Amino acid sequence: MWHGIYGHDSVVERFRQSLAKGRLASSYLFLGPPGVGKHTLALKLAQGLLCQGSEAHQMDPCGQCESCRLLEAGNHPDLDLIGLPPGKRWLPVDLFIGDREHRHKVGLCHNIAMKPMLGQRRVAIIDDADHLTIESANSLLKTLEEPPQGTILILIGTSRSRQLPTILSRTQVVRFSPLPTEVVADLLIQQEIAADRSQSTVLARCSEGSLQRASELADPELWQLQQRLPQQFSPQGFDSIRLGAELTALINAAGKETDARRRRMRAIFQLVGKHFRQVLRSSCGAACESGDPQTLAGEQMAQLDPSVQEYALAAIDRCLEAEMQLDRNANQATLLECWLDDLADILTRSLTPS
Ligand SMILES: [Zn+2]
Repeated sequence: MWHGIYGHDSVVERFRQSLAKGRLASSYLFLGPPGVGKHTLALKLAQGLLCQGSEAHQMDPCGQCESCRLLEAGNHPDLDLIGLPPGKRWLPVDLFIGDREHRHKVGLCHNIAMKPMLGQRRVAIIDDADHLTIESANSLLKTLEEPPQGTILILIGTSRSRQLPTILSRTQVVRFSPLPTEVVADLLIQQEIAADRSQSTVLARCSEGSLQRASELADPELWQLQQRLPQQFSPQGFDSIRLGAELTALINAAGKETDARRRRMRAIFQLVGKHFRQVLRSSCGAACESGDPQTLAGEQMAQLDPSVQEYALAAIDRCLEAEMQLDRNANQATLLECWLDDLADILTRSLTPS
């Protein structure tokens, strides 16, 4: 653990060594699942680099100096933070070089070229780098290639495949792994997101190592849904019309904002996918209790009940497909209806003797 950040000791060590050798790069690209602490680590790193009470190579921000206090208040003049504006799906070029009337007079690229106000350097953190447009990325290239002395830029995204080649070739990639399940469970208790240990354990298991995902699932309505999944998504109990109405109400209850509804819909697809993974896992008993069905070895697969194996795998695939369709901006009502219809087909087939 480094300054309250769990699960990323190797990343911290990498920066510690680079700083000790005086070999800190100027541009980094943090890649990893959402909600594992990439932004938190970037911010703490920035605090250590800007701190006036300790040397940068110590990576131990004092928390007391003017720089640390301004940074913790979200008000540091030498730190630029940008991310997706509310309701937007792309990082607009204006954030980097200003709007048409103020081109190159404001924005991140302008700010970062200025002399630091407090210390020796400036730091910029660019969240949501998956959502850079080609124009936005191009406006950043010169800054990435010839950054002012001491400047550090940290871009934060989820996967390599979602980055533009121009950005990949100009940054050092730092990979973040999903958090271990027990770390997520501890954080859920620590941050009072889970009510008790049993809830934190279940949420952590469904979180795929992301605290953000676990927090979304802790939403009481989703939590209730998760408790009812075994009956509602069993071949005998599946009623697509009733479920359609219930899930539509659940999605609408997330609010009027499209993004909020989209997040809830994604959480539903993930929960149901997770449920079918659990079905697959239980059907093969102790032999693969701890394994993920997606990575089961051939002999373990052979021990599965073939009919359960068939419907559970088809259902898992359909949930993953639904997530991809959501990413591609499919109409949400149609997507939900088609997904439920397909699950109904899959589950009904499993009841028909072949
Ligand atoms: Zn300090």
